[in-house]
Amino acid sequence: MLKDELPKIRTELPGPVGKSILKRRQQAIPIGMGSGYPLVIARGEGAMVEDVDGNVFLDWVGGVGVLNIGYSHPEVIGAVTQQAQKYFHSMMSLVTHSGYIELAEKLNRIVPVKGDEKKTMLVNCGAEAVENAVKIAKNYTGRPNIIVFSGAFHGRTSLTMSMTAKKKYAQKMGPFPEGVFRCEYPYIYRRPVGMPEEAAVDYYIERLETVFDEGSPADQVAAIVLEPIQGEGGFVQAPIEWVKRVRKICDEKGIMLVADEVQCGFGRTGRMFASDYWKDADCPPDIIACAKSIGGGLPLGAVSAAKEIMDAVTPGTIGGTFCGNAVACASALKVIEIMERDDLPGRAQEISQKIFRAYSRWKQEYEQVGDVRGIGCMAGIELVHDKESRKPYPELVEKIISNALREGLIIENAGAHGNVIRFLCPLVVTDRQIEAGLTIFEGAIKKALVELNEM
Ligand code: PLP
Repeated sequence: MLKDELPKIRTELPGPVGKSILKRRQQAIPIGMGSGYPLVIARGEGAMVEDVDGNVFLDWVGGVGVLNIGYSHPEVIGAVTQQAQKYFHSMMSLVTHSGYIELAEKLNRIVPVKGDEKKTMLVNCGAEAVENAVKIAKNYTGRPNIIVFSGAFHGRTSLTMSMTAKKKYAQKMGPFPEGVFRCEYPYIYRRPVGMPEEAAVDYYIERLETVFDEGSPADQVAAIVLEPIQGEGGFVQAPIEWVKRVRKICDEKGIMLVADEVQCGFGRTGRMFASDYWKDADCPPDIIACAKSIGGGLPLGAVSAAKEIMDAVTPGTIGGTFCGNAVACASALKVIEIMERDDLPGRAQEISQKIFRAYSRWKQEYEQVGDVRGIGCMAGIELVHDKESRKPYPELVEKIISNALREGLIIENAGAHGNVIRFLCPLVVTDRQIEAGLTIFEGAIKKALVELNEM
């Protein structure tokens, strides 16, 4: 079965069939959508993808964190098929469907947000989840502004483009909504030169307090929105000591703390939610926005918070035609059931040990591996010219990615400078596949270093 295979490349990339489809892609689809990898998927199973030319790839990107459950899980296919035979769609604001309610009840039981009684609304994607989280925070607090961070990625709607740090994603798309203020994310590896690590948390909290003086007064701030571990920003994790202090600031000033768990949620970090770690440290968020892996590949997102926050929202201001689609809900219910039953968060911790063992060795052996970081299976490796200067090395990353692909391993970059490689492998990957992937990855690093005359 494909799900147990190892990578095997049989043709040049793309192969002849893939080439002709990719040519049609160029003609039919705007270049603004990006160009993607030189392969066209024919089928996927577990962590493996077969392309239309019969090449087999190990996928360590999983649709950028969509496929924690893996491709084509037979039980998810079963749940989706059963639902499709009954009905595809019911618009919740008109006709109730019970899958939506069941999923909301389930999420209310497991989301680690502040409060005893919780409520959940469903949406179609990550940007919608974040945008609705902000709408809810504004409506509840009656305040107009929000604070976001350097390195943040929150989506491609008008509001979430303005929240996203990298302006490449928002070129010539303005004017944008007002009231979005940016603060420095606690990126410990890139703290100011010469600053001891122990001083970094104080420094980044001071940066946040400066926003209240120079950006928006605290009593005008509805929410502080952050990714517990930044995805697009380079797999940077907010230190728990910093989160605790942000939580305290939010409590003192009546600000909602919003966790964007779109990429880091659903088992990825070794817990169901990254905010579970926050909750353990007594600093849970007020609102969680999630998407991607919740639907197992079908479009779905969710926003959860305490009942009093969710019920403060003016009727008619949230929701939408496809929000909480019945087939997507059936998929999500099965995804969560499997994750809990098979302990995929626990499996993420096991995989993590293997990955970090290899990454840590690489950090010692290669001058260009500047930092390895992350939690659970959200692992990043930052490539630099040398450990002293920490100068980003995106050219090396580009070469590593294309070398790995040619051997059948799909990996992807991240970070403001594109010099981080992210690990977002489906959590159903086998041990043999992890070993094979690590061997290809290290081979790709060595080859790239030779190509750049570094070795
Ligand atoms: N938030 C985070 C942290 C993300 O990583 C993404 C997408 O990569 C989004 C929001 C936007 O999600 P979507 O592309 O589903 O709108």
